[in-house]
Amino acid sequence: AKERGRNRAEIYDAAMQIKLTRHARMDVALRFALERNELSLVYQPKVSLTDGSVEGFEVLMRWDSPEYGSISPSDFIPIAEASGMMVPIGIWALEQACRQLATWQQRYPGIGKMSLAVNVSMRQLLQTTFFTQVREILDSSGVRPGTMELELTETSAMANPMQTMETLSLLKKLGLRLALDDFGTGYSSLAYLQRLPIDILKIDKAFVQGLGSNQSDMEIIRLMMALAKTLHLETVAEGVETMAQIEELQKMGCTLGQGYLFSPPLLTAEAEALIRSTHVF
Ligand code: C2E
Ligand code: CA
Ligand code: CA
Ligand code: CA
Repeated sequence: AKERGRNRAEIYDAAMQIKLTRHARMDVALRFALERNELSLVYQPKVSLTDGSVEGFEVLMRWDSPEYGSISPSDFIPIAEASGMMVPIGIWALEQACRQLATWQQRYPGIGKMSLAVNVSMRQLLQTTFFTQVREILDSSGVRPGTMELELTETSAMANPMQTMETLSLLKKLGLRLALDDFGTGYSSLAYLQRLPIDILKIDKAFVQGLGSNQSDMEIIRLMMALAKTLHLETVAEGVETMAQIEELQKMGCTLGQGYLFSPPLLTAEAEALIRSTHVF
């Protein structure tokens, strides 16, 4: 038995070693991903739950590595955050998205206020140069004011509250709209939430997926809707996958949704085709 135990421990060590080595090597590969053009953006439609129109898109990052294949952002964003790559790749994503939106606004004037929402990591928000960089990117892209959104998570908005509050106020003055992502999964106090200069609450998909089956998820979303109403915030439900969920959300007064039921994240050309087919010029 002792013999077997040792073997198992050795196997475990070896497995850990492989994992650690893979992580370390992915870290190195990620350092070059930007210059080697391995990163790209996809666009997931944000749809009106009242009339089905496309109100905008969330921008999501993809990494196709020649060595590791396509890696999920849930895996590579943490690596980027730990290795210092989050700031440059985050800036790159914002630049790309602004440029893309400006192009679409020129090509399809009828899209009006259609927006793009870019995810921002806590690492970026805590950089003292973040605001200045964002301002430069926005200015040089020439996108219409009020059409770019930034999504930040509750946890990132809680790190260094004073600095965050100041940065967010400055960003709002630039005409950016701000969304609080994954709402309900963090620990922000209501008092803090009330003071944050945000426009949109994104209800985390964990709650949306319980709609119709889980009574407490339903109650939690109802509370979030009441809170959003009091604070005059727009609400977006994430991870909408069924018609039943749409019906519940409509009943509760949620006006926007995102999810596989409407569309997965789309390649640039696919998103553009959707814009062309849904806007009359
Ligand atoms: P997130 O910001 O909460 O993005 C929503 C995630 O849910 C996306 O996963 C999206 O593809 C997925 N999703 C959309 N509809 C559905 C649905 O109906 N059901 C389910 N189960 N999932 C759905 P993705 O693209 O894998 O991104 C994962 C996370 O990685 C994002 O979560 C975000 O936190 C992070 N991320 C992605 N791109 C960026 C980026 O450019 N910058 C930063 N800082 N983080 C990013
Ligand atoms: Ca998001
Ligand atoms: Ca989210
Ligand atoms: Ca999420």
